Amino acid sequence: MTTVFVVNSGSSSIKWELIDVESAARLRGSIVERIGEPGAVADHAAAMVGILAELGDELPDAIGHRVVHGGSLFDEATLITETVERQIGALSALAPLHNPANLLGLRAARAAFPGVPNVAVFDTAFHQTLAPDAYTYAIDSQVAAAHGVRRYGFHGTSYQYVSRAAAEFLQKPRESLKLIVFHLGNGASVCAIDGGRSVDTSMGMTPLEGLVMGTRGGDLDAGALIQLGRAGLSFDDLDRLLNRRSGLLGLSGHGDMRDVQSAARAGDDAAQGALDVYHHRLRHYLGAYLVGLGGVDAIVFTAGVGENSPATRAATLRGLEGFGIELDEGLNRARQGGARVVSSARSAVTVLVVPTNEELEIARQTAAVVGG
Ligand code: AMP
Repeated sequence: MTTVFVVNSGSSSIKWELIDVESAARLRGSIVERIGEPGAVADHAAAMVGILAELGDELPDAIGHRVVHGGSLFDEATLITETVERQIGALSALAPLHNPANLLGLRAARAAFPGVPNVAVFDTAFHQTLAPDAYTYAIDSQVAAAHGVRRYGFHGTSYQYVSRAAAEFLQKPRESLKLIVFHLGNGASVCAIDGGRSVDTSMGMTPLEGLVMGTRGGDLDAGALIQLGRAGLSFDDLDRLLNRRSGLLGLSGHGDMRDVQSAARAGDDAAQGALDVYHHRLRHYLGAYLVGLGGVDAIVFTAGVGENSPATRAATLRGLEGFGIELDEGLNRARQGGARVVSSARSAVTVLVVPTNEELEIARQTAAVVGG
């Protein structure tokens, strides 16, 4: 049995799971929240000591950390040394909210579990296969280089897990498959995967670009930000607007897809309008990636919305029979867990629902790094 302690550390929370890699079983798991708030645990170090006590004598073989931004430095899961830790810290310029929070968890884990190896698994790593034409923003190249302004992409751990699981389900080598994977959760992105390699993805330098999300609006003319800045909004105002008050929430007043859908069913025009924009954007990227890949073997839906909303899948793929893409209404609506086909027997392209499991993927990659 190889056990990996998987840590997802936020600025005020630590989500953790203890996973047995061989059996893929989740042995334990919990979340420590409100770190640093009155009446709660004081800091990440204290939270980690509490988790250690909870684990008792079940010491893990390795610790796997979710790290949001690996920049252009990391293209795979990496054993954490002092140098690596310094590099993750330096990448905070690209992810000022996430990387410092990830580092807090990393330092706390090292202090609480001395002698246990720590591995960083980066959300961006899977997309380091993007070619320059796909990752380059067409701005002054010297400015871009000086500030690391390029597309990095996110949700890479999920794409890695889902693309492998889809290939296993289809009983085809991943190297032979062209996939378009929609990761539609609170955060949402889409990825074109050719032979197991990411060739295009909708999130960019930060997780703000691309699809409409719960509270993030995705694609936006950069000129709008200049105008808003001139109109008096500060950088903090823009940060709040774009990260917390946009997307489904900004359009409809509801950030949770279930609430938007039920409001729309009840006749709320703003909610219906939000869904229309959400679906329009999904189809925009589907078209782009169909052409980019030169055809596709399977379209895969994953994460909260992708796995659970037949209406979203139907709206995304509506009217595409001419492209060989056709859902089976019954299969799409069926309530069933696990990986499954939702396309019709006639459909040339297979449409799948594949539940993601980022924690298991982190555990597997961590075990692989530690096991050599
Ligand atoms: P995640 O970030 O992957 O946990 O996904 C969260 C999102 O999934 C939220 O917007 C939820 O409203 C959405 N979601 C979960 N279950 C359903 C469902 N049955 N129908 C539509 N959306 C759902």
